[in-house]
Amino acid sequence: MSLRICTLYPDLLGTYGDGGNALVLEQRAKWRGFATEMLSVKAGDVVPIADLYCLGGGEDGPQVRATELLRSDQTLRRALDDGAVLLAVCAGFQLIGNSFSAGKDRQVEGLGLLDIETIRTSEPRAVGEVTADVTAPTLVGLPPLSGFENHGGRTRLGSAVLPLARVTTGTGNGFTGDEGAVSGRIVATYLHGPVLARNPQLADRLLAWALDQRELAPLDDELHDQLRRERGV
Ligand code: GLN
Repeated sequence: MSLRICTLYPDLLGTYGDGGNALVLEQRAKWRGFATEMLSVKAGDVVPIADLYCLGGGEDGPQVRATELLRSDQTLRRALDDGAVLLAVCAGFQLIGNSFSAGKDRQVEGLGLLDIETIRTSEPRAVGEVTADVTAPTLVGLPPLSGFENHGGRTRLGSAVLPLARVTTGTGNGFTGDEGAVSGRIVATYLHGPVLARNPQLADRLLAWALDQRELAPLDDELHDQLRRERGV
């Protein structure tokens, strides 16, 4: 059986190149001999069942549209209940929460898959490079994360949701100095890059979860390591 990797709404949430996350997952699975099936859902298409979903970042309007589509489709929620893995980046992170702001005075209901809330504050937009030390217990042992952020919202985590990492450079979630969130098989982050190209070991953890493997065979990551050194991690 192939590993089904699905990018959700690249036409709405493709502004920051996060579509690259699915390519990284595909290539790293293939290098290890796993068969993959790549799926991509455009706005208005039916969401297929997959093992691993990727949601990316985008502007407020498309973010609201993607939320409405995912709410009426319901496949993502069911697949997650059945054990699928989700990587949600920036707008994707915000929209799986309880609510998020779309513009100055508009708070929009999210999908409620994660107990988080995103609001706009008087702080300026968070734009720039980020480094962060991984703190989520299910991801212990990962090296520091590297990526870039570009968001207006600031995100508070509910008590059942753990931060992904602790910011050492940049803003991340805001409020507390944390970055991203982890709950079960959902990993959410503000990091673009694409985040899995900058952090291949995070890609491998997501793959291991989706493939139900304890560990995956190591790969030669010298090029990634060079990039990471350039970015100061
Ligand atoms: N529209 C959201 C915000 O500005 C998300 C931005 C993004 O996905 N990079 O906070």
